[in-house]
Amino acid sequence: MKCPKCLTENEQRSVCKKCGMFLYNTNYRNGPKLTAEQLKKRERAQILGFFKKVGRFIWIALGILLISFWVFILLYFLFRSIGWR
Ligand SMILES: [Zn+2]
Repeated sequence: MKCPKCLTENEQRSVCKKCGMFLYNTNYRNGPKLTAEQLKKRERAQILGFFKKVGRFIWIALGILLISFWVFILLYFLFRSIGWR
């Protein structure tokens, strides 16, 4: 696309190669393919993905906690049966 400032032809760049002006493709941003509803959907999908990531992290943390808890219990009984008698 053409730079609006110096009118240099830039191919698919986001910054003008001559003057450094920030370029954005208006066809991509305000095209008929991306309506407000679709933008909302995409936003919702991003939020959902974030919660999925956080949820997975919580599950992993819970799993580690559970395993360490059982190891602790196991070691506790093991040492008690061997040591303090
Ligand atoms: Zn320019």
